[in-house]
Amino acid sequence: MYIADAHCDALWKLAQKKHPVVNINSLQQGKINVQTFALFTIPNGKKEQEKRQIAAQIHAFHTLVNDSAILRHEPFAPLSSQSSKTHAILSLEGMSMFEFDSLDMLLHAGVEMVSLTWNERNQFASGTDYNKGGITSAGKKMIRWLNDHGFSLDGAHLNEESFWDAIHLADHFLVSHANIKGIYSHPRNLSDAQLLALVEKNSFVGLTCYPRFLNGTKDAFYSDIARQIEYAGELGVISILGFGTDWDGIDETVHSFASPRDFPRILDWLLLRFDEEIVKGVAGENFRRFWNNKYKQRSFQNSGNPLQ
Ligand SMILES: [Zn+2]
Repeated sequence: MYIADAHCDALWKLAQKKHPVVNINSLQQGKINVQTFALFTIPNGKKEQEKRQIAAQIHAFHTLVNDSAILRHEPFAPLSSQSSKTHAILSLEGMSMFEFDSLDMLLHAGVEMVSLTWNERNQFASGTDYNKGGITSAGKKMIRWLNDHGFSLDGAHLNEESFWDAIHLADHFLVSHANIKGIYSHPRNLSDAQLLALVEKNSFVGLTCYPRFLNGTKDAFYSDIARQIEYAGELGVISILGFGTDWDGIDETVHSFASPRDFPRILDWLLLRFDEEIVKGVAGENFRRFWNNKYKQRSFQNSGNPLQ
C-alpha cells in the first residue's frame, strides 16, 4: 500500500541531539513512500538565531538524504507510485524568522511546503494561541510569493480567521497535521465547515497521531483513528483524509502507532473495518493525488521549477 506522512519533526529532534523515531530504519521497515520533514524552531523573536537553527536543520536534512540509499529528495516533482524509495519532502513549520530578502534560503534548500505560523502571532498571520487576527498585508504578499514559486501553503497551526483568509489566497493549500473538531473540540482541530471548504479546494488533511488532539487525553488507540475516518466518511470529506503524524514533535503517541514501522499494523487493522479503497486513500493515495494536482495547475506549469 502507498503510504504517506505529511508531517514529522525528526529534524527538530536531531537538532536537540536526540534520536528521532522517524529514521532510515523505521521508514524502511514501514515501507513508507512519502515522508515530509519539517524545519522547525520555537519562535523567540531572535530571527538571526532562529535562521541559523533552520540552516542547521536544512544541512541535517541533506546529510540524511545523501547518506541514505532509501531516501530521495526531488523538489518540485510529482510523486510516482512506482518508486521503492521514500520520497522525502522538506517543509517549514512557521515563518517568523523570514523576511522577503531571505527567501532564497528556502528555494536553495528545496523547501516545498510552508506554514506561516506555529502557534504564535507573527508578521504574516495569527496561530492558534490567538482567537482573533487574520492574514496581515505582509502575509498576503507572502502567499502571493509562495504561489508564484510553486510552494504549498500549510494551514496547520493557523487560527480560524487566518485559515479562512489563507484558503482563499493560496493556490495549493493543505492542513498537514490536525484532527476533527466534531470529535474533540481543540483550537488545533478543524470544524466541519473548514473540512468541507478543504474538499471544495481539492485539498488534504493529515490526521495527527497526538492523543491530546484526538480525544483530549494522553491515551489514544487505533479506534480513535477509526473514529476520525468514520466521521470524515459521514461528513463526505474522506477523499481528502490522510496522515500527518507529528512524530518527534509529540511526547505522547497512539498506542502501537508510534513510529513509521507501525504503519503496516494499523493499516491491516483498518482493513478489517473499512473498504480497501478508503484505507488506501487515507494511507497515502489521497496525499499523492493532492500533491500531484499542483502539477496540473496551469499557473505552476507555466512558471516551471523555481530552482531553474
Ligand atoms: Zn505542528
